[in-house]
Amino acid sequence: MARMQEFLRDSYNRPIRDLRVSLTDRCNFRCFYCLPHGEPPIAPKEQMLSYEEIEYVCEIFVSLGIEKIRMTGGEPMLRRDIETIIRKLAKLKPELHDLALTTNGYFLPERAQSLKNAGLDRVTISLDSLKRDVFKRMTGVDVLDKVLTGIEAAKNAGLEPIKINAVIVRGHNEDEVADFAAFARDYDVKMRFIEFMPLDSGHEWSRADVVSGKEIHDRISERFPLVGLEVKRGSETSSRFRFADGAAGEIGIIAPVTEPFCGACSRIRLTADGQIRTCLFSTVEYSLRDVVRSGASRAEIVDYIRSVILKKEPRHFINDPGFVAPSRTMSFIGG
Ligand code: SAM
Repeated sequence: MARMQEFLRDSYNRPIRDLRVSLTDRCNFRCFYCLPHGEPPIAPKEQMLSYEEIEYVCEIFVSLGIEKIRMTGGEPMLRRDIETIIRKLAKLKPELHDLALTTNGYFLPERAQSLKNAGLDRVTISLDSLKRDVFKRMTGVDVLDKVLTGIEAAKNAGLEPIKINAVIVRGHNEDEVADFAAFARDYDVKMRFIEFMPLDSGHEWSRADVVSGKEIHDRISERFPLVGLEVKRGSETSSRFRFADGAAGEIGIIAPVTEPFCGACSRIRLTADGQIRTCLFSTVEYSLRDVVRSGASRAEIVDYIRSVILKKEPRHFINDPGFVAPSRTMSFIGG
């Protein structure tokens, strides 16, 4: 694949290397911090990007310097036959360095190996509690055992390094933080703790519900002392730690609310209906789908993408008095 001379850079000189592609808005979980009241009506199928369209625009993005593609949703494994799109995107390697999937893990027990065979590099699996009743209360579904089996299946299939995401919300699971760290040690996985962000469809987010990255760090360190990893953080979302006693596993803390990391952001998102979002918290979207479907040439599509990237926000505004949450929930934005 021919690489364009100039890689993508926004107007603050941040290189754009990381693309999150939502495959569907639908989800089979009802996490209270995301879709507490269920899905709003789903957009008609013809508004969704087809696999061919996703492949076409991703190939252009990779030619412009995108190195990582993470497929997400909604629940991406609800989209029919995602092995097909994985096979198509895997053809973009080696310029594409990393092809990953974020999933709730529900379908992994039966499908992990076929994802690997199709060319997927690794998975990130959401897991908000290790207790059956809390898991059910947070996600709306009573399937903790199935997700744990899914993590095992992903490991057996070699979809590594496996990252486990837990959103920590006051009054729900902050008492489990050190237990999650023990889980990371026992299963040799990268456990990532995420601060609760104002991206819930119910707009019920409150600052009082946010458990700060610092508190998460302190809760873990009380039981398992941590050592900061001497890695260049770059555009990574998480601060990373290893266990001081040399145990397996890793801890990542993602603190967009209390310790924003926008200055090094290298991410953009493509929604399932083909809209580019330049920030998780954007209140505007840009329809790449309409440009592609208007019959634009490749050069015109490239120009459009470059012009959108230049509009990337300098930072999110969660902590500003006039903050307005995006109208679309995380499951529609593509988490
Ligand atoms: N269904 C897949 C999954 O469960 O991982 C992918 C989509 S989900 C929207 C992606 C990630 O966003 C999950 O780890 C989820 O916990 C996180 N998420 C959703 N709403 C959030 C919120 N309000 N604050 C922080 N993280 C959130």
